[in-house]
Amino acid sequence: MNLNVRVSWQQTITTASEAPADGFLLSEGGTHFIGPIKVSIIEGKGRGVLATEAISPGQLLLCVEPLGVVTGPEQTSLSVEQLQFSLLNHSCAPNAINWVLPCAARAMVVRAARHIAPGEELTISYLGGPQLLPLDARREALGSAFGFECGCPRCRAEEELSPGLATLLQDTASRVAQSFSPRLKRGMASGDRQQLMEVRRQAAAMMTMVYQQLRRVQPSLREQLLSSCYSCVEAIADADTALGDDEAAAGSLGKCLKAAAAVTPGSDLHVIVASKLEEVVGRLHGEGSLQQQQAWQACVEAHVARYGQLDQARLRRLAELNRTLTNVGGAGNGGGNAGRGRGGQVGAVLAGAGGVQPGRAGAGRGQAGQQQQPVALGKAVRRWR
Ligand SMILES: [Zn+2]
Repeated sequence: MNLNVRVSWQQTITTASEAPADGFLLSEGGTHFIGPIKVSIIEGKGRGVLATEAISPGQLLLCVEPLGVVTGPEQTSLSVEQLQFSLLNHSCAPNAINWVLPCAARAMVVRAARHIAPGEELTISYLGGPQLLPLDARREALGSAFGFECGCPRCRAEEELSPGLATLLQDTASRVAQSFSPRLKRGMASGDRQQLMEVRRQAAAMMTMVYQQLRRVQPSLREQLLSSCYSCVEAIADADTALGDDEAAAGSLGKCLKAAAAVTPGSDLHVIVASKLEEVVGRLHGEGSLQQQQAWQACVEAHVARYGQLDQARLRRLAELNRTLTNVGGAGNGGGNAGRGRGGQVGAVLAGAGGVQPGRAGAGRGQAGQQQQPVALGKAVRRWR
């Protein structure tokens, strides 16, 4: 399996660059906040963190300062060694999201990204882009970086797939990386509509095969499995967007959103795709239409999962900011490092200090270092085990 697949999500993890927002943090409990959680022994995993009460999406679970900063050859990354944080186990479809506020304290924030039941284990993702790849690629990434084999429900479900479907998921991801993405990038750069349409046709044909195979799979598993070929769905959305076809883009972005929400709720990708979809649907059906209202609701859910409960004005400003970013429309082309250009802007919105400055999005294109953050986290996790 080709681990060099660069789905756009990889370039948009903004954990290390997103937002000084001290005022916002302090209003929620400061940088030494521990929510309704406890450390416990989890069967088959050693220690982990459990919810002690019912938790809602967006609820703050942890806000901790790192104990030290590790300077690597390419960047400075945090080494977060706070006990509670480093005990959070990995899942390929986690229920919590973590990111760093590089305010004075460079605090690490962990929020619930879904409803979590009392006694349920809290999980985050240690993966970057491979989170959106099939089982073999995720195993390879986790094994080489962290030395364990994931046994989360998504991995176990994917283990049970027929060999034909498992191979199809792998082939789809490989084909996007080796063929669709580079051709899409060239087509976008040259404005070659024929090329864009041909790539879209081939990517859609690939997905048709996937959908046919998925009919034999339990409905509850389909969305997670579709997220394992996210890059193909995204390539179609990119082509639709580049071709200026709003109707097709609304459909393909809707599929991207479902896939992102299934396995990366509250992620940067989730909020960006939701914001872009809402914009396209608003343009297509009109502001205030039922479709636009539904798209806005999905957009609010994504933003709450990442940033917590915010007033409508801040949600609007964040959505405006996120829709100007360049992850969808990049098709794994190595660009679109959304976070670099907006860190301070997101922080300003959260802190209530400023508005959105369109046009700065993707200011740091090509700086793909942020996926180092989960690695730093994993090292901390290993030390505690
Ligand atoms: Zn897993």
